[in-house]
Amino acid sequence: MKNVVLLGATGSIGKSCLNVIRQNKEHFHLFGIGFGSNLDRAQEIAKEFNPDHIFVDQYQTDKSHIFWQDHSNTLSSEDELRGLIQDSSVDIVISAISGFAGLKASYFAIEAGKVILIANKESIVAAGDILMPLAKKKNSEIIPIDSEHNAIYQCLPLEKNLKEISKILITASGGPFREKPLRDLRRVSLNDAMNHPTWSMGAKITIDSATLINKCLELIEAHYLFNIPESQIEIVVHPQSIIHSMITFIDGSTIAQMSNPSMEVPISNALGMGKRLPINFTEIDFTELNLSFEPVAHDRKMIFDMAREVCNKKGNLGVIFNASNEIAVDAFINKNIDFVDIYEAIQRTFDCFTCSKINTIDEIFEYDKEARIQAEMVIKSLH
Ligand code: NAD
Ligand code: MG
Repeated sequence: MKNVVLLGATGSIGKSCLNVIRQNKEHFHLFGIGFGSNLDRAQEIAKEFNPDHIFVDQYQTDKSHIFWQDHSNTLSSEDELRGLIQDSSVDIVISAISGFAGLKASYFAIEAGKVILIANKESIVAAGDILMPLAKKKNSEIIPIDSEHNAIYQCLPLEKNLKEISKILITASGGPFREKPLRDLRRVSLNDAMNHPTWSMGAKITIDSATLINKCLELIEAHYLFNIPESQIEIVVHPQSIIHSMITFIDGSTIAQMSNPSMEVPISNALGMGKRLPINFTEIDFTELNLSFEPVAHDRKMIFDMAREVCNKKGNLGVIFNASNEIAVDAFINKNIDFVDIYEAIQRTFDCFTCSKINTIDEIFEYDKEARIQAEMVIKSLH
């Protein structure tokens, strides 16, 4: 029996994780859950799974909710979060909080040398320079949940000999605006952007998928997780989301991982830690398949150029790229800017900073704060 701490339990990834755990109850015990909002959902989870510990980022929640009558001893401070994650009985930490807010949990898990299943790509993008060397030092195993990275993880040879890799191909659905040129996107609405063709996800990642910035974050994530130069990572648009990513090896073989789009597939692979766990899934009907591939539209190239620069120069650039995106996405969701302004806000914020080396996790938090202030100023200047 493995003790699991699931952070981001009330979210979309959290739900998929609980579905996999429910189907494999004999292998996993929910030792702790953490979330920031949605007390109704937290109440349901607590009732069904009876976790030993509950962490709530309380400042966001409604104090009069009935949840508090049943769960008066929840954890809420940063020290309590650290204590929960680093408890010696914890075997697996799932980092599935959305956005930069998930970094602390990822850091605490890696600091304690835990097995960490990482959905929170923003942690890796913002703090890869700190987290990856720390994981090596503390012997913390990082297993990706993001479908593309889990696909790459599954395609990797057992001995993980990176020298055998010629290229990693990350697939992208292309999002709801795949067929639209950038110049036609000025007036798209929040609803249009939220209408993802193949995946149902939380709000932030859905907007990131519409801008393709999710794919930029994934490029940086793959670069850090697999220690592969960006020049060996290609993005291929594959609208059906059946092939989740591929590796081409130096002998000309390409290995792809396929499934119908469901996050339960990469999650069960990650939770299995080398063993295949049984889950309910919809089989691919190969006789009905019609797979297609195309390059990323040229007019979105500027954002990938920035992501590739982050990979090449590293340091503070990842945290700045990520923070400016989070501020711009929030502004779009709150209807303060147009869809295409997201690109403008990121580019202009990014251009305000020079690249510098990062030495401590605290510096990441400082740059995050600075970049957010800068991005807010840029957004004000856009109107
Ligand atoms: P979501 O918005 O559905 O859920 C986010 C979860 O994080 C919720 O449980 C929320 O309460 C919690 N949370 C937010 N702020 C918090 C805070 N300050 N403290 C504690 N908990 C907090 O998001 P999601 O779609 O599940 O995505 C989660 C992460 O997984 C993101 O980093 C996303 O990029 C990544 N991811 C998601 C998918 C997907 O299919 N949804 C796929 C790949 C990667
Ligand atoms: Mg993904």
